[in-house]
Amino acid sequence: MNKIAQIFQSLDYGPAPEGPEQAIAWLDSHARTFGHFIDGQWTKPGKTFASDNPANGETLAQITDGTAEDVDTAVKAARAAFPGWSALSGYQRGKYLYAIARAIQKHARLFAVLETMDNGKPIRESRDIDIPLVARHFYHHAGWAQHLSREFSDAVPYGVCGQIIPWNFPLLMLAWKIAPALAAGNTVVLKPAEFTSLTALLFAEICDRAGLPKGVVNIVTGEGDTGQAIVNHQDIDKIAFTGSTEVGKLIRAATAGTGKGLSLELGGKSPYIVFEDADMDSAIEGLVDAIWFNQGQVCCAGSRLLVQESIEERFITKLKKRMASLRVGDPMDKSIDVGALVALVQVERIKDLMQRGAAEGAVIYEADGPVPAKGCFLKPALVTNVSPANTLVAEEIFGPVLVAMSFRTPEEAVALANNTKYGLAATIWSENINLALDIAPKIKAGVVWINGTNNFDAAVGFGGYKESGFGREGGREGMGAYLKPKWEKDLKAAPKSSPHPEPVEAQGRATNPLDASHVDQTAKMYIGGKQARPDSAYTRAVLDPNGKLIGEVGEGNRKDIRNAVEAARAALGWSTTSAHSRAQILYFLAENLDYRRDEFAARIKAQTGEDGTTEVALSVERLFAFAGWADKYDGAVHNPPLRAVAAAMIEPLGVMGIVAPVNLPLLGSISLIAPALAMGNTVVLVPSAKSPLSLTDLYQVVETSDVPSGVINIVTGDSVSLAKTLAEHDGVDGLWFAGSAEASTMVEKASISNLKQTWTTRGLAFDLADRRFEGDYFLSKATQVKNVWIPYGA
Ligand code: NAD
Repeated sequence: MNKIAQIFQSLDYGPAPEGPEQAIAWLDSHARTFGHFIDGQWTKPGKTFASDNPANGETLAQITDGTAEDVDTAVKAARAAFPGWSALSGYQRGKYLYAIARAIQKHARLFAVLETMDNGKPIRESRDIDIPLVARHFYHHAGWAQHLSREFSDAVPYGVCGQIIPWNFPLLMLAWKIAPALAAGNTVVLKPAEFTSLTALLFAEICDRAGLPKGVVNIVTGEGDTGQAIVNHQDIDKIAFTGSTEVGKLIRAATAGTGKGLSLELGGKSPYIVFEDADMDSAIEGLVDAIWFNQGQVCCAGSRLLVQESIEERFITKLKKRMASLRVGDPMDKSIDVGALVALVQVERIKDLMQRGAAEGAVIYEADGPVPAKGCFLKPALVTNVSPANTLVAEEIFGPVLVAMSFRTPEEAVALANNTKYGLAATIWSENINLALDIAPKIKAGVVWINGTNNFDAAVGFGGYKESGFGREGGREGMGAYLKPKWEKDLKAAPKSSPHPEPVEAQGRATNPLDASHVDQTAKMYIGGKQARPDSAYTRAVLDPNGKLIGEVGEGNRKDIRNAVEAARAALGWSTTSAHSRAQILYFLAENLDYRRDEFAARIKAQTGEDGTTEVALSVERLFAFAGWADKYDGAVHNPPLRAVAAAMIEPLGVMGIVAPVNLPLLGSISLIAPALAMGNTVVLVPSAKSPLSLTDLYQVVETSDVPSGVINIVTGDSVSLAKTLAEHDGVDGLWFAGSAEASTMVEKASISNLKQTWTTRGLAFDLADRRFEGDYFLSKATQVKNVWIPYGA
């Protein structure tokens, strides 16, 4: 048989290698040794480490391991460049971003080849996905730069941003960080991951050629220590981190109390849910992309297959057949499906996890087919026979390993999907749109793809819930993450409050000096819609400004907080109550408070000596304001270039702990609970430690205003110790704390276990009476955005 006839018989792939020459020439032009790129120029290389091609083990270049001094030099350059860069008009900054986007397109092939050589991902992916998305990100943000002054009129850039990125999408993660930062007027110091610094260095050179002013983009290479030096640098205003949850938690702790802005894009263990009515072939193709794209080294990889029991067998059989046709090999070959993993340590880590999973009972199936003998390659693997506790189900593997489980009912699918500490993404396959759109809101994840997977676009926010981090990249919310309110810099230190009385053991003595005939006048706490006595036998005196006893409240402890959190979790149905109903209830609360305004004003006067009339009136107005917002602060529908729409849905955080300020006994609490409730959160409130009686009075108003039980819970006592308990409680999703700088630091540090979102006043005088707090300042902090991708248009 002649060759052509043979090829027709076997239909084998021929070799289709991409040429490395251009990338090699660029590396050679730098003598294969790189310093950092600081203030528009290359520094002399310092102590270096090798950057290897994981597909063949060859060393591509020597990279400088950045020291704390290098980081300091870069921060100084970025600081010096900031006034000039931020003073440019949005249009001028936009033009630079546009020039960068054009330059990336012009050098697309060089970037793609260099990325594949450095990272090991198939050239098909770097060429068709990574680099086009990088260009798209700069184009998109060129537009934002110009429109910021109208769209975010009350905002300013942070200043110098420290950005730390992982190795799985080296240039794309850089673009996600640098494009919005620059659009907003920030300057940056970015550290690429140690395995994959090369495209970041090429990018720096390209920025320079595009005429970007010196010091606006600084690239410092290095390992974890270099990242740490960025995180700890005193003159950095915001840290943006993408990487593992483990390091994300370290960074949360290290930045606690510094006032640095922080966004964390962390790990995931995303469910891929296939219902029995799904288009099975499409679901299989989607799954191949979900878990074997970039060798599974994808934060949002659909690594947990949840397939409906009725189709499980057929689905798994088909999947195995498809796995057999995946081609593992040289990533520079254009017809390779699965390339090399980033480094040998990753290969070893994954093998180790698989051994642990197997020892725990997992059955591991690996696709047949050749794998190169040399280089960091692994076969695509499918894991079955696992329970939710198996290591392979619980841990992020970050490799080409799919774990499969089955479910019977939609409820069970949701329960399994949410049974993880992560919440980055989820995929749902069903031909029944009612079913898919019923499941999407029930999944706790920042991105949900319906009948599709791994769709990304600059116009659509990306980021996680729970331990997958907080903050978004892309979309309006991603843009907002690089801006802060203009007025924040003018905040003064809050005046020190006089010490609160120490708690005493309650002895049934007369407690109300206004009426000595009453015995137990200790105001109760309010938990699960009921008045509750404190767990401890202690009470806390409430004094008037002259030090006279005017009442007592319970001294709340850990157990009271636990009860209150449990009640708040049980009341989370509030989040699915319609926004209209929530608004009605807040209006009703306002109305009932207004009926009793004289009594509340008198109570404020008794506690503070101030005329409380205005504070009560403002509290009623604040409730009205947020009742008005309940059905207006909502999402958007994005129109990405992918035959899909993305519905950006605003969702509540869940259970919020709120520790109110000492001053403004009524308005301080109302200003914080009203936005939280309006957005569908349930609340555990610790009222002013010094003047808590306004809130223990308020629950009588709450009771008569149709607020469902458990939606508002009130625990009185010492703000700092109760805040600590709330911060450490994994049932609390968000925590707002008004208090000293020291206690704010404690709250931010203590909140790392489930990475709850925090807002703290850090000892600054936030005047909650100011009407600037009537709007999106707190609404945005009480919510997170879920982007639901839905096929749309042919
Ligand atoms: P990693 O956390 O080990 O490293 C990420 C970066 O942080 C690297 O640049 C590293 O040098 C640096 N670093 C390490 N220790 C540090 C420290 N103590 N202080 C400061 N910086 C430090 O993560 P990785 O292994 O490079 O990347 C894989 C992880 O990234 C996975 O968990 C993946 O899910 C996650 N990821 C998340 C997203 C997202 O958008 N959510 C995207 C891509 C990757």
